[in-house]
Amino acid sequence: MSQGQTSTDVILIGAGIMSATLGTLLKELAPDWNIKVFEKLATAGEESSNEWNNAGTGHAALCELNYTVERPDKTVDISKAIKVNEQFQVSKQFWSYLVNSRLIRNPRDFIMPIPHLSYVHGESNVQFLKRRYDTLSNHPLFAGMDFSDNREELAKWMPLMMKDRTSSEPVAATKIDSGTDVNFGALTRMLLKHLQEQKVEVHYKHSVKNIKRKSDKSWELTVKNLTSGAVERHRAKFVFIGAGGGSLHLLQKSGIPEGKHIGGFPVSGIFMVCKNPKVVEQHHAKVYGKASVGAPPMSVPHLDTRYIDNQKSLLFGPFAGFSPKFLKTGSNADLIASVKLHNLLTMLAAGVKELSLTKYLIQQLMLTKEQRMKELRDFVPSAKSEDWDMVLAGQRVQVIKDTVQGGKGTLQFGTEVVTAADGSIAALLGASPGASTAVQVMLEILERCFPQHMKEWEPKIKEMIPSYGISLAENLDLLREVNLSTAKSLGLSDEKQALHV
Ligand SMILES: Cc1cc2nc3c(=O)[nH]c(=O)nc-3n(C[C@H](O)[C@H](O)[C@H](O)COP(=O)(O)OP(=O)(O)OC[C@H]3O[C@@H](n4cnc5c(N)ncnc54)[C@H](O)[C@@H]3O)c2cc1C
Repeated sequence: MSQGQTSTDVILIGAGIMSATLGTLLKELAPDWNIKVFEKLATAGEESSNEWNNAGTGHAALCELNYTVERPDKTVDISKAIKVNEQFQVSKQFWSYLVNSRLIRNPRDFIMPIPHLSYVHGESNVQFLKRRYDTLSNHPLFAGMDFSDNREELAKWMPLMMKDRTSSEPVAATKIDSGTDVNFGALTRMLLKHLQEQKVEVHYKHSVKNIKRKSDKSWELTVKNLTSGAVERHRAKFVFIGAGGGSLHLLQKSGIPEGKHIGGFPVSGIFMVCKNPKVVEQHHAKVYGKASVGAPPMSVPHLDTRYIDNQKSLLFGPFAGFSPKFLKTGSNADLIASVKLHNLLTMLAAGVKELSLTKYLIQQLMLTKEQRMKELRDFVPSAKSEDWDMVLAGQRVQVIKDTVQGGKGTLQFGTEVVTAADGSIAALLGASPGASTAVQVMLEILERCFPQHMKEWEPKIKEMIPSYGISLAENLDLLREVNLSTAKSLGLSDEKQALHV
Protein backbone atom coordinates (compact mmCIF):
# COMPACT_ATOMS: atom_id res chain seq x y z
CA MET A 1 0.00 0.00 0.00
CA SER A 2 1.42 3.40 -0.95
CA GLN A 3 1.42 6.49 1.27
CA GLY A 4 -1.90 8.21 1.87
CA GLN A 5 -3.86 5.00 1.56
CA THR A 6 -5.92 3.38 4.29
CA SER A 7 -7.17 -0.19 4.54
CA THR A 8 -10.23 -1.49 6.34
CA ASP A 9 -12.56 -4.51 6.50
CA VAL A 10 -15.70 -2.86 5.19
CA ILE A 11 -16.54 0.32 3.30
CA LEU A 12 -20.15 1.44 3.03
CA ILE A 13 -20.81 3.99 0.29
CA GLY A 14 -23.67 6.37 1.14
CA ALA A 15 -25.28 7.22 4.47
CA GLY A 16 -28.88 6.25 3.68
CA ILE A 17 -31.08 3.70 5.43
CA MET A 18 -29.48 0.77 3.58
CA SER A 19 -25.86 1.45 4.62
CA ALA A 20 -27.05 2.43 8.10
CA THR A 21 -28.85 -0.90 8.45
CA LEU A 22 -26.01 -3.00 7.05
CA GLY A 23 -23.46 -1.19 9.23
CA THR A 24 -25.58 -1.72 12.36
CA LEU A 25 -26.10 -5.42 11.59
CA LEU A 26 -22.38 -5.91 10.97
CA LYS A 27 -21.39 -4.10 14.18
CA GLU A 28 -23.65 -6.46 16.14
CA LEU A 29 -22.36 -9.57 14.33
CA ALA A 30 -18.67 -8.73 13.99
CA PRO A 31 -17.91 -5.97 16.52
CA ASP A 32 -14.17 -6.10 15.82
CA TRP A 33 -14.42 -5.37 12.13
CA ASN A 34 -13.31 -1.94 10.97
CA ILE A 35 -16.00 -0.11 9.04
CA LYS A 36 -15.83 3.18 7.17
CA VAL A 37 -18.68 5.13 5.61
CA PHE A 38 -18.31 7.70 2.82
CA GLU A 39 -21.19 10.07 2.19
CA LYS A 40 -21.03 12.92 -0.29
CA LEU A 41 -23.55 15.13 1.51
CA ALA A 42 -23.01 16.92 4.82
CA THR A 43 -25.30 14.69 6.91
CA ALA A 44 -26.95 11.26 6.91
CA GLY A 45 -30.30 10.40 5.33
CA GLU A 46 -30.57 13.41 3.05
CA GLU A 47 -31.53 11.68 -0.20
CA SER A 48 -34.37 9.11 -0.63
CA SER A 49 -34.25 8.12 3.05
CA ASN A 50 -35.07 11.66 4.18
CA GLU A 51 -38.50 11.96 5.79
CA TRP A 52 -39.71 14.54 3.27
CA ASN A 53 -38.40 12.59 0.28
CA ASN A 54 -40.42 9.40 0.84
CA ALA A 55 -43.91 8.66 2.13
CA GLY A 56 -42.78 6.97 5.35
CA THR A 57 -45.12 4.05 4.91
CA GLY A 58 -44.06 0.93 6.75
CA HIS A 59 -44.86 -1.21 3.71
CA ALA A 60 -46.46 -4.37 5.06
CA ALA A 61 -48.98 -4.78 2.23
CA LEU A 62 -51.80 -3.77 4.59
CA CYS A 63 -53.16 -1.14 2.18
CA GLU A 64 -51.16 -1.07 -1.08
CA LEU A 65 -53.41 -2.41 -3.82
CA ASN A 66 -50.47 -2.99 -6.17
CA TYR A 67 -49.21 -5.89 -4.03
CA THR A 68 -52.27 -7.99 -4.88
CA VAL A 69 -53.18 -9.01 -8.41
CA GLU A 70 -56.59 -9.96 -9.73
CA ARG A 71 -56.40 -13.17 -11.76
CA PRO A 72 -58.52 -13.63 -14.94
CA ASP A 73 -60.97 -15.79 -12.93
CA LYS A 74 -61.42 -12.84 -10.50
CA THR A 75 -59.66 -14.56 -7.60
CA VAL A 76 -56.98 -12.46 -5.92
CA ASP A 77 -53.32 -13.48 -5.81
CA ILE A 78 -51.93 -12.36 -2.43
CA SER A 79 -48.49 -14.05 -2.67
CA LYS A 80 -46.63 -10.74 -3.11
CA ALA A 81 -48.55 -9.19 -0.19
CA ILE A 82 -47.49 -12.12 2.02
CA LYS A 83 -43.85 -11.68 0.97
CA VAL A 84 -43.84 -7.93 1.63
CA ASN A 85 -45.57 -8.42 5.00
CA GLU A 86 -43.04 -11.06 6.07
CA GLN A 87 -40.21 -8.71 5.09
CA PHE A 88 -41.66 -5.90 7.20
CA GLN A 89 -42.00 -8.27 10.15
CA VAL A 90 -38.22 -8.75 9.91
CA SER A 91 -37.66 -4.97 10.04
CA LYS A 92 -39.98 -4.62 13.05
CA GLN A 93 -38.12 -7.35 14.94
CA PHE A 94 -34.71 -5.76 14.27
CA TRP A 95 -35.97 -2.31 15.29
CA SER A 96 -37.44 -3.85 18.46
CA TYR A 97 -34.04 -5.36 19.22
CA LEU A 98 -32.44 -1.93 18.78
CA VAL A 99 -34.97 -0.40 21.20
CA ASN A 100 -34.70 -3.25 23.74
CA SER A 101 -30.91 -3.05 23.75
CA ARG A 102 -31.09 0.76 24.11
CA LEU A 103 -29.33 1.40 20.80
CA ILE A 104 -32.43 3.49 20.06
CA ARG A 105 -33.88 5.22 23.09
CA ASN A 106 -37.42 6.04 22.08
CA PRO A 107 -39.34 4.28 19.28
CA ARG A 108 -41.56 7.37 19.00
CA ASP A 109 -38.56 9.12 17.48
CA PHE A 110 -39.03 7.10 14.29
CA ILE A 111 -42.17 4.95 14.26
CA MET A 112 -45.85 5.71 14.91
CA PRO A 113 -48.90 3.44 14.80
CA ILE A 114 -51.40 4.52 12.17
CA PRO A 115 -54.33 2.70 10.53
CA HIS A 116 -53.69 1.61 6.94
CA LEU A 117 -56.67 1.86 4.58
CA SER A 118 -57.28 0.90 0.95
CA TYR A 119 -59.88 3.06 -0.74
CA VAL A 120 -61.70 2.62 -4.07
CA HIS A 121 -64.72 4.04 -5.86
CA GLY A 122 -66.83 2.67 -8.70
CA GLU A 123 -68.84 -0.55 -8.67
CA SER A 124 -66.22 -2.90 -10.17
CA ASN A 125 -63.47 -1.55 -7.90
CA VAL A 126 -65.71 -2.00 -4.85
CA GLN A 127 -66.35 -5.61 -5.85
CA PHE A 128 -62.62 -6.18 -6.35
CA LEU A 129 -61.84 -4.70 -2.94
CA LYS A 130 -64.41 -6.98 -1.31
CA ARG A 131 -62.89 -10.07 -2.97
CA ARG A 132 -59.43 -8.90 -1.98
CA TYR A 133 -60.61 -8.37 1.60
CA ASP A 134 -62.22 -11.85 1.71
CA THR A 135 -58.90 -13.42 0.70
CA LEU A 136 -56.58 -11.26 2.81
CA SER A 137 -58.59 -11.16 6.02
CA ASN A 138 -58.60 -14.96 6.12
CA HIS A 139 -54.82 -14.96 6.20
CA PRO A 140 -53.17 -14.72 9.64
CA LEU A 141 -50.74 -12.00 8.52
CA PHE A 142 -53.68 -9.73 7.74
CA ALA A 143 -55.96 -10.65 10.64
CA GLY A 144 -57.91 -7.73 12.05
CA MET A 145 -58.65 -6.17 8.65
CA ASP A 146 -62.16 -4.69 8.25
CA PHE A 147 -64.15 -3.87 5.12
CA SER A 148 -66.94 -1.34 4.68
CA ASP A 149 -68.98 0.16 1.86
CA ASN A 150 -71.24 1.95 4.32
CA ARG A 151 -70.79 5.72 4.03
CA GLU A 152 -71.47 6.37 7.72
CA GLU A 153 -68.85 3.84 8.74
CA LEU A 154 -66.41 5.20 6.14
CA ALA A 155 -66.98 8.72 7.48
CA LYS A 156 -65.75 7.46 10.87
CA TRP A 157 -62.67 5.84 9.31
CA MET A 158 -61.74 8.78 7.05
CA PRO A 159 -63.82 11.87 7.90
CA LEU A 160 -61.81 14.30 5.77
CA MET A 161 -62.20 12.09 2.71
CA MET A 162 -65.95 11.57 3.12
CA LYS A 163 -66.76 15.21 3.94
CA ASP A 164 -68.50 17.00 1.04
CA ARG A 165 -68.44 13.80 -1.06
CA THR A 166 -71.55 14.49 -3.09
CA SER A 167 -71.14 11.85 -5.81
CA SER A 168 -73.44 8.86 -5.39
CA GLU A 169 -70.81 6.52 -6.83
CA PRO A 170 -70.22 3.40 -4.64
CA VAL A 171 -67.24 3.80 -2.30
CA ALA A 172 -65.49 1.19 -0.16
CA ALA A 173 -62.43 0.79 2.02
CA THR A 174 -60.56 -1.76 4.07
CA LYS A 175 -58.93 -0.77 7.35
CA ILE A 176 -56.34 -2.38 9.57
CA ASP A 177 -55.05 -0.70 12.72
CA SER A 178 -51.61 -2.30 12.83
CA GLY A 179 -50.09 -0.01 10.16
CA THR A 180 -47.15 2.33 10.74
CA ASP A 181 -45.70 5.67 9.74
CA VAL A 182 -41.91 5.42 9.77
CA ASN A 183 -39.52 8.36 9.79
CA PHE A 184 -36.73 6.68 7.84
CA GLY A 185 -34.65 9.86 7.89
CA ALA A 186 -34.64 9.98 11.70
CA LEU A 187 -33.91 6.24 11.88
CA THR A 188 -30.98 6.61 9.47
CA ARG A 189 -29.52 9.47 11.50
CA MET A 190 -29.91 7.54 14.79
CA LEU A 191 -28.20 4.46 13.33
CA LEU A 192 -25.33 6.48 11.88
CA LYS A 193 -24.84 8.27 15.20
CA HIS A 194 -24.77 4.91 16.97
CA LEU A 195 -22.21 3.61 14.46
CA GLN A 196 -19.97 6.62 15.09
CA GLU A 197 -20.17 5.90 18.83
CA GLN A 198 -19.03 2.36 17.97
CA LYS A 199 -15.88 3.79 16.34
CA VAL A 200 -17.13 3.52 12.80
CA GLU A 201 -15.50 6.33 10.80
CA VAL A 202 -18.23 8.24 9.03
CA HIS A 203 -16.83 10.68 6.47
CA TYR A 204 -19.36 13.24 5.32
CA LYS A 205 -18.71 15.47 2.30
CA HIS A 206 -16.66 12.64 0.78
CA SER A 207 -17.70 11.60 -2.70
CA VAL A 208 -16.64 8.19 -4.05
CA LYS A 209 -15.42 8.69 -7.60
CA ASN A 210 -14.03 5.33 -8.58
CA ILE A 211 -13.81 1.69 -7.48
CA LYS A 212 -11.06 -0.58 -8.73
CA ARG A 213 -10.13 -4.18 -8.02
CA LYS A 214 -6.56 -4.67 -6.79
CA SER A 215 -4.32 -7.68 -7.36
CA ASP A 216 -4.74 -8.80 -3.71
CA LYS A 217 -8.53 -8.99 -4.37
CA SER A 218 -9.25 -5.96 -2.20
CA TRP A 219 -11.12 -2.92 -3.57
CA GLU A 220 -9.57 0.52 -3.87
CA LEU A 221 -11.86 3.51 -3.74
CA THR A 222 -10.92 6.93 -5.06
CA VAL A 223 -12.64 9.39 -2.78
CA LYS A 224 -12.82 13.16 -3.13
CA ASN A 225 -12.85 15.15 0.08
CA LEU A 226 -15.34 17.84 -0.91
CA THR A 227 -14.17 20.22 1.82
CA SER A 228 -10.44 20.24 1.07
CA GLY A 229 -10.58 19.08 -2.54
CA ALA A 230 -8.02 16.37 -1.74
CA VAL A 231 -8.27 13.00 -3.47
CA GLU A 232 -7.86 10.04 -1.13
CA ARG A 233 -7.51 6.31 -1.67
CA HIS A 234 -9.13 3.80 0.67
CA ARG A 235 -9.00 0.03 0.44
CA ALA A 236 -11.42 -2.56 1.82
CA LYS A 237 -11.99 -6.29 1.67
CA PHE A 238 -15.73 -5.73 1.28
CA VAL A 239 -17.58 -2.80 -0.26
CA PHE A 240 -21.30 -2.07 -0.12
CA ILE A 241 -22.57 0.37 -2.71
CA GLY A 242 -25.53 1.86 -0.86
CA ALA A 243 -25.49 5.09 -2.83
CA GLY A 244 -29.20 5.02 -3.72
CA GLY A 245 -29.61 6.55 -7.18
CA GLY A 246 -25.79 6.84 -7.33
CA SER A 247 -25.33 3.08 -7.03
CA LEU A 248 -25.62 2.21 -10.72
CA HIS A 249 -22.73 4.49 -11.77
CA LEU A 250 -20.49 3.11 -9.02
CA LEU A 251 -21.44 -0.48 -9.83
CA GLN A 252 -20.50 0.16 -13.45
CA LYS A 253 -17.15 1.60 -12.34
CA SER A 254 -16.38 -1.57 -10.37
CA GLY A 255 -16.42 -3.45 -13.68
CA ILE A 256 -17.90 -6.65 -12.22
CA PRO A 257 -19.65 -8.74 -14.89
CA GLU A 258 -22.81 -8.95 -12.70
CA GLY A 259 -23.19 -5.18 -13.06
CA LYS A 260 -23.31 -5.26 -16.86
CA HIS A 261 -26.42 -5.13 -19.07
CA ILE A 262 -28.27 -3.20 -16.36
CA GLY A 263 -29.69 0.27 -16.88
CA GLY A 264 -31.56 2.82 -14.79
CA PHE A 265 -34.83 4.66 -15.41
CA PRO A 266 -35.16 7.74 -13.20
CA VAL A 267 -38.57 8.72 -11.84
CA SER A 268 -39.00 11.92 -9.88
CA GLY A 269 -41.82 12.65 -7.49
CA ILE A 270 -43.86 15.51 -6.07
CA PHE A 271 -45.93 15.44 -2.87
CA MET A 272 -48.65 17.86 -1.82
CA VAL A 273 -48.26 18.75 1.86
CA CYS A 274 -50.81 20.26 4.24
CA LYS A 275 -49.81 21.65 7.63
CA ASN A 276 -53.04 23.49 8.47
CA PRO A 277 -53.96 21.94 11.88
CA LYS A 278 -57.69 22.34 11.20
CA VAL A 279 -57.40 20.10 8.15
CA VAL A 280 -54.70 17.78 9.52
CA GLU A 281 -56.79 16.94 12.59
CA GLN A 282 -59.56 15.51 10.41
CA HIS A 283 -57.45 12.66 9.06
CA HIS A 284 -55.71 9.90 10.94
CA ALA A 285 -54.64 7.17 8.51
CA LYS A 286 -52.62 6.22 5.48
CA VAL A 287 -55.17 5.73 2.72
CA TYR A 288 -53.95 4.11 -0.49
CA GLY A 289 -56.02 4.32 -3.69
CA LYS A 290 -55.73 2.74 -7.12
CA ALA A 291 -53.20 3.88 -9.70
CA SER A 292 -54.75 5.51 -12.76
CA VAL A 293 -54.46 3.66 -16.07
CA GLY A 294 -50.92 3.93 -17.52
CA ALA A 295 -49.45 5.10 -14.21
CA PRO A 296 -46.45 3.20 -12.81
CA PRO A 297 -46.99 1.39 -9.48
CA MET A 298 -44.91 3.94 -7.57
CA SER A 299 -47.40 6.68 -8.37
CA VAL A 300 -50.34 5.01 -6.60
CA PRO A 301 -52.04 8.01 -4.95
CA HIS A 302 -52.29 8.04 -1.17
CA LEU A 303 -53.25 10.44 1.59
CA ASP A 304 -51.04 10.00 4.63
CA THR A 305 -50.90 11.31 8.14
CA ARG A 306 -47.20 11.98 8.77
CA TYR A 307 -45.38 12.58 12.04
CA ILE A 308 -42.26 14.61 11.33
CA ASP A 309 -40.35 16.68 13.91
CA ASN A 310 -43.18 16.20 16.42
CA GLN A 311 -45.55 17.82 13.98
CA LYS A 312 -48.50 16.16 12.29
CA SER A 313 -49.03 16.90 8.63
CA LEU A 314 -50.81 15.41 5.63
CA LEU A 315 -49.04 14.20 2.53
CA PHE A 316 -50.71 13.43 -0.78
CA GLY A 317 -49.07 11.91 -3.83
CA PRO A 318 -46.62 11.08 -5.12
CA PHE A 319 -47.07 12.55 -8.57
CA ALA A 320 -44.42 10.77 -10.60
CA GLY A 321 -42.47 12.77 -13.15
CA PHE A 322 -39.46 12.56 -15.41
CA SER A 323 -36.04 13.96 -14.57
CA PRO A 324 -32.73 12.66 -15.98
CA LYS A 325 -31.15 12.97 -12.49
CA PHE A 326 -30.39 9.79 -10.53
CA LEU A 327 -30.27 11.60 -7.18
CA LYS A 328 -32.23 14.65 -6.04
CA THR A 329 -28.84 16.33 -5.68
CA GLY A 330 -27.61 14.65 -8.89
CA SER A 331 -26.80 15.98 -12.35
CA ASN A 332 -28.86 16.25 -15.54
CA ALA A 333 -26.15 14.16 -17.22
CA ASP A 334 -26.78 11.14 -14.93
CA LEU A 335 -29.01 9.24 -17.35
CA ILE A 336 -26.73 9.71 -20.37
CA ALA A 337 -23.65 8.84 -18.29
CA SER A 338 -25.25 5.52 -17.30
CA VAL A 339 -25.47 4.36 -20.93
CA LYS A 340 -22.49 2.12 -21.68
CA LEU A 341 -21.65 -0.16 -24.56
CA HIS A 342 -22.75 -3.23 -22.55
CA ASN A 343 -26.21 -1.83 -21.65
CA LEU A 344 -26.86 0.18 -24.81
CA LEU A 345 -29.20 -2.38 -26.40
CA THR A 346 -30.99 -2.95 -23.08
CA MET A 347 -31.51 0.81 -22.69
CA LEU A 348 -32.64 1.26 -26.30
CA ALA A 349 -35.12 -1.61 -25.99
CA ALA A 350 -36.50 -0.07 -22.79
CA GLY A 351 -36.69 3.33 -24.49
CA VAL A 352 -38.92 1.86 -27.21
CA LYS A 353 -41.01 -0.25 -24.79
CA GLU A 354 -41.51 2.47 -22.22
CA LEU A 355 -42.34 5.29 -24.61
CA SER A 356 -45.87 5.61 -23.24
CA LEU A 357 -44.58 5.60 -19.64
CA THR A 358 -42.03 8.30 -20.49
CA LYS A 359 -44.81 10.32 -22.16
CA TYR A 360 -47.00 9.83 -19.07
CA LEU A 361 -44.19 10.97 -16.74
CA ILE A 362 -43.47 14.07 -18.83
CA GLN A 363 -47.20 14.92 -18.86
CA GLN A 364 -47.28 14.49 -15.07
CA LEU A 365 -44.30 16.80 -14.73
CA MET A 366 -46.13 19.52 -16.66
CA LEU A 367 -49.21 19.46 -14.36
CA THR A 368 -50.03 22.77 -12.74
CA LYS A 369 -50.81 23.01 -9.02
CA GLU A 370 -54.53 23.34 -9.82
CA GLN A 371 -54.44 20.16 -11.91
CA ARG A 372 -52.79 18.36 -9.01
CA MET A 373 -55.44 19.77 -6.66
CA LYS A 374 -58.06 18.18 -8.92
CA GLU A 375 -56.51 14.74 -8.31
CA LEU A 376 -56.26 15.48 -4.61
CA ARG A 377 -59.98 16.35 -4.54
CA ASP A 378 -60.73 12.78 -5.60
CA PHE A 379 -59.45 11.98 -2.08
CA VAL A 380 -60.36 15.19 -0.26
CA PRO A 381 -63.34 16.81 -2.01
CA SER A 382 -63.14 19.89 0.26
CA ALA A 383 -59.38 20.50 -0.31
CA LYS A 384 -58.50 24.19 -0.69
CA SER A 385 -55.47 25.23 -2.72
CA GLU A 386 -54.17 27.58 -0.04
CA ASP A 387 -53.84 24.69 2.46
CA TRP A 388 -51.55 22.59 0.24
CA ASP A 389 -47.95 23.14 -0.90
CA MET A 390 -45.95 21.20 -3.46
CA VAL A 391 -42.78 19.50 -2.20
CA LEU A 392 -40.18 17.80 -4.38
CA ALA A 393 -39.84 14.16 -3.27
CA GLY A 394 -36.85 11.85 -3.66
CA GLN A 395 -35.64 10.45 -6.94
CA ARG A 396 -36.10 6.74 -7.72
CA VAL A 397 -33.99 4.89 -10.25
CA GLN A 398 -35.88 1.86 -11.46
CA VAL A 399 -33.76 -1.00 -12.78
CA ILE A 400 -33.88 -1.92 -16.47
CA LYS A 401 -32.61 -5.35 -17.38
CA ASP A 402 -33.12 -8.21 -19.80
CA THR A 403 -35.41 -10.87 -18.40
CA VAL A 404 -36.69 -14.20 -19.72
CA GLN A 405 -40.32 -13.18 -19.16
CA GLY A 406 -40.21 -9.55 -20.29
CA GLY A 407 -37.41 -9.75 -22.88
CA LYS A 408 -34.76 -7.13 -23.56
CA GLY A 409 -34.90 -3.87 -21.63
CA THR A 410 -37.60 -4.74 -19.11
CA LEU A 411 -38.41 -2.16 -16.44
CA GLN A 412 -38.31 -3.57 -12.90
CA PHE A 413 -40.22 -2.03 -10.04
CA GLY A 414 -38.59 -3.92 -7.17
CA THR A 415 -35.29 -3.83 -5.34
CA GLU A 416 -32.29 -5.57 -6.93
CA VAL A 417 -29.24 -6.77 -5.07
CA VAL A 418 -26.17 -7.24 -7.27
CA THR A 419 -23.18 -9.05 -5.80
CA ALA A 420 -19.84 -10.15 -7.24
CA ALA A 421 -19.37 -13.91 -7.55
CA ASP A 422 -16.81 -13.87 -4.70
CA GLY A 423 -19.04 -11.73 -2.46
CA SER A 424 -16.46 -8.94 -2.13
CA ILE A 425 -18.78 -6.19 -3.38
CA ALA A 426 -22.54 -5.69 -3.33
CA ALA A 427 -24.81 -2.99 -4.68
CA LEU A 428 -28.42 -2.16 -4.06
CA LEU A 429 -30.48 -0.88 -6.97
CA GLY A 430 -34.17 -0.02 -7.31
CA ALA A 431 -36.50 1.43 -4.71
CA SER A 432 -39.54 -0.68 -3.88
CA PRO A 433 -40.82 -1.69 -1.32
CA GLY A 434 -37.81 0.31 -0.30
CA ALA A 435 -36.70 1.37 3.13
CA SER A 436 -39.32 -0.83 4.85
CA THR A 437 -37.50 -3.95 3.71
CA ALA A 438 -33.98 -2.68 4.43
CA VAL A 439 -33.32 -5.32 7.12
CA GLN A 440 -34.40 -8.29 4.99
CA VAL A 441 -32.42 -7.01 2.00
CA MET A 442 -29.29 -6.44 4.09
CA LEU A 443 -29.61 -9.95 5.56
CA GLU A 444 -29.70 -11.23 1.99
CA ILE A 445 -26.45 -9.36 1.32
CA LEU A 446 -24.86 -10.97 4.39
CA GLU A 447 -25.96 -14.43 3.21
CA ARG A 448 -24.62 -13.86 -0.29
CA CYS A 449 -21.37 -12.10 0.63
CA PHE A 450 -20.40 -13.77 3.92
CA PRO A 451 -21.59 -17.40 3.63
CA GLN A 452 -18.53 -18.52 5.59
CA HIS A 453 -19.67 -16.52 8.66
CA MET A 454 -23.39 -17.31 8.61
CA LYS A 455 -23.19 -20.37 10.88
CA GLU A 456 -21.24 -18.43 13.50
CA TRP A 457 -23.59 -15.41 13.17
CA GLU A 458 -26.87 -17.30 13.17
CA PRO A 459 -27.47 -17.37 16.96
CA LYS A 460 -27.01 -13.57 17.16
CA ILE A 461 -29.22 -13.03 14.12
CA LYS A 462 -31.92 -15.15 15.78
CA GLU A 463 -31.56 -13.14 18.97
CA MET A 464 -32.17 -9.96 16.94
CA ILE A 465 -34.77 -11.43 14.57
CA PRO A 466 -36.46 -14.46 16.18
CA SER A 467 -38.28 -15.36 12.94
CA TYR A 468 -35.04 -15.44 10.90
CA GLY A 469 -35.32 -18.28 8.36
CA ILE A 470 -38.88 -19.12 9.45
CA SER A 471 -42.13 -18.24 7.67
CA LEU A 472 -44.39 -16.44 10.14
CA ALA A 473 -47.38 -17.19 7.90
CA GLU A 474 -46.78 -20.87 8.60
CA ASN A 475 -45.91 -20.56 12.30
CA LEU A 476 -48.83 -18.96 14.04
CA ASP A 477 -47.45 -19.26 17.58
CA LEU A 478 -44.31 -17.43 16.56
CA LEU A 479 -46.38 -14.86 14.63
CA ARG A 480 -48.46 -14.16 17.76
CA GLU A 481 -45.31 -13.89 19.87
CA VAL A 482 -43.57 -11.58 17.37
CA ASN A 483 -46.67 -9.39 16.98
CA LEU A 484 -47.02 -8.94 20.70
CA SER A 485 -43.35 -8.36 21.44
CA THR A 486 -42.75 -5.90 18.58
CA ALA A 487 -45.99 -4.05 19.41
CA LYS A 488 -44.80 -3.69 23.00
CA SER A 489 -41.25 -2.59 22.14
CA LEU A 490 -42.22 -0.23 19.35
CA GLY A 491 -45.46 1.02 20.92
CA LEU A 492 -47.65 -0.24 18.07
CA SER A 493 -51.23 -1.41 18.00
CA ASP A 494 -50.57 -4.99 16.91
CA GLU A 495 -52.10 -6.52 20.02
CA LYS A 496 -55.53 -6.61 18.41
CA GLN A 497 -54.07 -8.36 15.38
CA ALA A 498 -52.07 -10.77 17.55
CA LEU A 499 -55.22 -11.78 19.42
CA HIS A 500 -56.98 -12.54 16.13
CA VAL A 501 -54.26 -14.98 15.04
C1 LIG B 1 -41.16 9.43 -3.59
C2 LIG B 1 -40.70 8.25 -2.81
C3 LIG B 1 -41.54 7.66 -1.88
C4 LIG B 1 -41.11 6.54 -1.16
N1 LIG B 1 -41.93 6.03 -0.21
C5 LIG B 1 -41.50 5.00 0.55
C6 LIG B 1 -42.31 4.53 1.60
O1 LIG B 1 -43.40 5.04 1.84
N2 LIG B 1 -41.85 3.48 2.33
C7 LIG B 1 -40.65 2.89 2.06
O2 LIG B 1 -40.31 1.93 2.73
N3 LIG B 1 -39.85 3.34 1.08
C8 LIG B 1 -40.23 4.39 0.33
N4 LIG B 1 -39.43 4.88 -0.65
C9 LIG B 1 -38.16 4.20 -0.96
C10 LIG B 1 -37.07 4.55 0.05
O3 LIG B 1 -37.05 5.93 0.28
C11 LIG B 1 -35.73 4.08 -0.50
O4 LIG B 1 -35.82 2.73 -0.87
C12 LIG B 1 -34.62 4.19 0.53
O5 LIG B 1 -34.61 5.43 1.17
C13 LIG B 1 -33.29 3.96 -0.17
O6 LIG B 1 -32.27 4.07 0.77
P1 LIG B 1 -30.76 4.06 0.31
O7 LIG B 1 -29.94 4.06 1.53
O8 LIG B 1 -30.55 2.97 -0.68
O9 LIG B 1 -30.60 5.40 -0.56
P2 LIG B 1 -30.53 6.94 -0.11
O10 LIG B 1 -31.33 7.25 1.07
O11 LIG B 1 -30.80 7.72 -1.35
O12 LIG B 1 -29.02 7.10 0.32
C14 LIG B 1 -27.95 7.02 -0.61
C15 LIG B 1 -26.86 7.93 -0.10
O13 LIG B 1 -25.70 7.74 -0.93
C16 LIG B 1 -25.09 9.01 -1.13
N5 LIG B 1 -24.25 8.93 -2.33
C17 LIG B 1 -24.66 8.80 -3.61
N6 LIG B 1 -23.59 8.74 -4.43
C18 LIG B 1 -22.49 8.83 -3.63
C19 LIG B 1 -21.09 8.82 -3.89
N7 LIG B 1 -20.60 8.70 -5.15
N8 LIG B 1 -20.23 8.93 -2.85
C20 LIG B 1 -20.71 9.03 -1.57
N9 LIG B 1 -22.04 9.04 -1.27
C21 LIG B 1 -22.90 8.94 -2.30
C22 LIG B 1 -26.27 9.95 -1.27
O14 LIG B 1 -25.90 11.29 -1.03
C23 LIG B 1 -27.24 9.40 -0.22
O15 LIG B 1 -27.08 10.01 1.04
C24 LIG B 1 -39.81 6.00 -1.38
C25 LIG B 1 -38.96 6.62 -2.29
C26 LIG B 1 -39.37 7.74 -2.98
C27 LIG B 1 -38.42 8.42 -3.90
